[in-house]
Amino acid sequence: MSTSRERVIDLRSDTVTRPSAAMRQAMAEAEVGDDVLGDDPTVIKLQERIAQMMGKEAACFVPTGTMANQTAIRAHTEPGDEIVADEGSHIIHYETGAPAALSGVMVRPIASSRGIFDVAELEAMVRPHSTHFARSRLLVLENTHNRGGGSVWPLEQLKRVATRGRELGLRVHLDGARLWNACVKTGVKPAEYAAPFDTVSCCFSKGLGCPVGSAVAGDRASINRVQRFRKMFGGTMRQSGVLAAAALYALDHHVEGLAQDHANAAALARGLSTIGGINVNVAGVETNMVFFDLAASMPMNEAEFCERLRARGVLMMGTGPRRIRAVCHRDVSTDDIHNAIERVRAILTGSQ
Ligand SMILES: *Cc1c(COP(=O)(O)O)cnc(C)c1O
Repeated sequence: MSTSRERVIDLRSDTVTRPSAAMRQAMAEAEVGDDVLGDDPTVIKLQERIAQMMGKEAACFVPTGTMANQTAIRAHTEPGDEIVADEGSHIIHYETGAPAALSGVMVRPIASSRGIFDVAELEAMVRPHSTHFARSRLLVLENTHNRGGGSVWPLEQLKRVATRGRELGLRVHLDGARLWNACVKTGVKPAEYAAPFDTVSCCFSKGLGCPVGSAVAGDRASINRVQRFRKMFGGTMRQSGVLAAAALYALDHHVEGLAQDHANAAALARGLSTIGGINVNVAGVETNMVFFDLAASMPMNEAEFCERLRARGVLMMGTGPRRIRAVCHRDVSTDDIHNAIERVRAILTGSQ
């Protein structure tokens, strides 16, 4: 990697951000207690703030987005139950089979477009009551949608699908790892997106720039169960106010900046679209993620592309055959994006 010659532009994920000096200061000054004993004042403050922002009774601070989703899944289900979720969802692809391992549940995938589907697709996947069938118990939606390209659920459709899920007797959970991006994009408040759900998760370690941390919000009874399973899964921490302080700092200072990440992602997509051999749907870039494909005529696959780009100091991630993902975040500037575009152009046109 050409680290010594030029700054590495890391677009693998919005999780690669480093905590800023001011965030570290807030962490250093955090008032702490013991959260296993329930008396860390900074964790309590963060949980109250998240509950309020999401319009819910309570919230629980957890180490990761995976633990947020998995404690919620465990809270809502019993072994042998079935979850319905879109076929590209994070809980299916990137959580190591945890619904099966930790909750003993099956997941029934729903066909979707960019992670978004409607009432008819949901209804087709909810099983009738019968001794033959698994019990359909939980519906999980994801907003913004990761594999869907950072896509944003239209608010009315989200409400319609979640409400129909409840009518069908399901609990409903929103994977809101990047809910902040959806809110900044549309101006919709977190509580509006969260309203039709029993529980909603959110992450502080993605675009908001924290080193660690996620949360689950919901009604008191659901969050009591989330807290129990957080402990069981090994995620209840001691002086975690140090981490909660970073999240509180980020909520105050880093949410609005997501708009810049969205503008940078749009600029990246536009730039890439001018390079022969790259197929990118510019209009499909709704938030901070850009997915693109290498044309069949290009004599390299996604791994070779990422390797050659790495040699020029730009990091991206292959996510499928000839498919590549680049994610904008607060540690890359607009200049970095223009630089990255030129380095991609250089490797694809073979110029030095
Ligand atoms: C990243 C992500 C998670 C999980 O977050 P981790 O902190 O990496 O465990 C959950 N859901 C979605 C949609 C994500 O993008």
